[in-house]
Amino acid sequence: MVLASINPNFALLPGSYLFAAVAKKTADYKAAHPDKKVISLGIGDVTRPLPQSVIEALRSAVDDMAHEDTFRGYGPYEGYDFLREKIAQEDYVSRGANISADEIFISDGAKSDCGNIGDIFSADNVVAVCDPVYPVYVDTNAMAGRAGVYDNAREKWTKLVYMPCTRETNFIPEIPKEHCDLIYLCFPNNPMGTMIDAPTLKKWVDYARSEGAVIFYDAAYEAYITEDLPHSIYEIEGARECAVEFRSFSKNAGFTGTRCAFCVIPHSLKVNGSSLNEMWMRRQATKFNGVPYIIQRGAEAVYSPQGRLETKALVAYFLNNAKIIRDGLSEAGFEAYGGVNAPYIWLKTKGGQSSWEFFDSLLEKAGVVGTPGSGFGPSGEGYFRLTAFGSESTTREAIKRITEAF
Ligand code: PLP
Repeated sequence: MVLASINPNFALLPGSYLFAAVAKKTADYKAAHPDKKVISLGIGDVTRPLPQSVIEALRSAVDDMAHEDTFRGYGPYEGYDFLREKIAQEDYVSRGANISADEIFISDGAKSDCGNIGDIFSADNVVAVCDPVYPVYVDTNAMAGRAGVYDNAREKWTKLVYMPCTRETNFIPEIPKEHCDLIYLCFPNNPMGTMIDAPTLKKWVDYARSEGAVIFYDAAYEAYITEDLPHSIYEIEGARECAVEFRSFSKNAGFTGTRCAFCVIPHSLKVNGSSLNEMWMRRQATKFNGVPYIIQRGAEAVYSPQGRLETKALVAYFLNNAKIIRDGLSEAGFEAYGGVNAPYIWLKTKGGQSSWEFFDSLLEKAGVVGTPGSGFGPSGEGYFRLTAFGSESTTREAIKRITEAF
């Protein structure tokens, strides 16, 4: 018998009911209707191959590893300069955001970064999250003891500040009335597919600065922005003093299985005189040995002229699916949001159906699977998420079935 005591916060976590329940209901339906082709518009994973320029860079980096003079062993914890410099220049300086290469930390994913960043903050911080929300922010804070206990009746953690995002708020959180220390914002948003404009984002930066709070700005879907809206929080004055930003190559360049992302921590972001950049460097140096050289060369190729064209085409492909979904839903009489600056479409169910009731009728009537909005938080009740990451032909087929069935 093991006598070591475990992290008690893990015992407080509710099961990850959402995706397990979706998978079970889908499997049951398939077993009962073996002749029907079920289409999933529920996945958050890309389905197109890596861009050719990335493939070529990966191959060439494999060759580097085959020769003594170009072989690389352990790389820098914070990532190779060739990639950090490209990111600083292309993603920030060229957009008027003053970010330097030594403020960028290459990682294996925005998911890891969003979760791990909590390591450098104490358990007594007040954490604010959007409702509905990408579950990683909530669960990682719960694991760290910052969320209190889970109240099953309210479907909320007792210590987290939930910021409802509904039709009435344009699916953007309102500034909390109470004091918060750590604030998660995600734009373009998962699951709602909505975006924030510069004046509204400025209000968040001002709020964070007045409260002495830190904003964690998750811009994993930045490449999907089509309108004249901020791509980075550092385009907003004052953000260098209060914000950490997360980005990823997963959704712009198909790296979900290849794994490469980065976070930005400006030198001017200080908490009680401590540099978060230095603390994060210390954390990474202790717990992380860097992203593989080969993968970082692949990510670098995203910034080449050819890579830019190819990743743009990839994003355009998914945005076209998003348009097909959005237009089709409107035609079928649904209120549909998102899908213009994001690969997610957030629809309001009809006739007061709950999210799960709609899940069942969508599966039953159209053989299409999506994700119930209530699974992302209580304010998601009555909403439903569809994703644009499928192939164009299955997306068209799914929408044809929906317009016929509803
Ligand atoms: N942030 C958000 C909002 C996401 O939706 C996802 C993935 O679905 C991630 C981060 C994870 O990105 P990565 O693949 O870089 O870990």
